[in-house]
Amino acid sequence: MSMAQRETPCKGKEDINACVGVIRSFYDRGWLLGTAGNFSVLLSRGPFRLVITASGIDKGAIAPEHFLQLDALGNVVEGIGRPTAESGLHLAVLESVNAGAVFHTHSIWATILSIIHASNDGFYIEGYEMLKGLHGVDTHAHREWIPIIENSQDIPALSDRVRKLIAENPKAHGFLIRGHGLYTWGETIQETKRHVEIIEFLLEVIGRHRTMLLET
Ligand SMILES: [Zn+2]
Repeated sequence: MSMAQRETPCKGKEDINACVGVIRSFYDRGWLLGTAGNFSVLLSRGPFRLVITASGIDKGAIAPEHFLQLDALGNVVEGIGRPTAESGLHLAVLESVNAGAVFHTHSIWATILSIIHASNDGFYIEGYEMLKGLHGVDTHAHREWIPIIENSQDIPALSDRVRKLIAENPKAHGFLIRGHGLYTWGETIQETKRHVEIIEFLLEVIGRHRTMLLET
């Protein structure tokens, strides 16, 4: 057995434990209610191996055994159960960007803003200090385009739209699916967690601000 083969399960175990902690904290913040959301971490690109949450798991009761290991085609190579129905979207993101993790949340503000701005295929966020939490961003003056795609239960078709969206928006840190939620990614689990927190914060600020303007 090669060194890489010996190390892979160990790395996977650490990554899964780290993901479990992130999922519990996101559940407590209301971003993963019920069985919503899914998480993946890339273990290696050669051979391609991904750990991802299983389908239908209550995110408030997530445990390490609720993760499966997949190959590049989405076949289960380790673990019991079915992978999340959206595993094709995770694979599409990882084919398109040089990321190490992909996290997907279903928050109230992502859902609302993805509907409000769907007719423009997205919206800009600019002028907020918190933008500096996104990889490569060093000023509040940065203009972040948040692309939006239509929702679908046809995951292969939606995966193709994700590949196209990332090709057209190579600087994006994430995207919204209309009436559904946020996908974002990062080089590491910690960076991806930060991206979820930063984008969810910004979506909530924009949504709450808009509501206050309507009330005055
Ligand atoms: Zn979803």
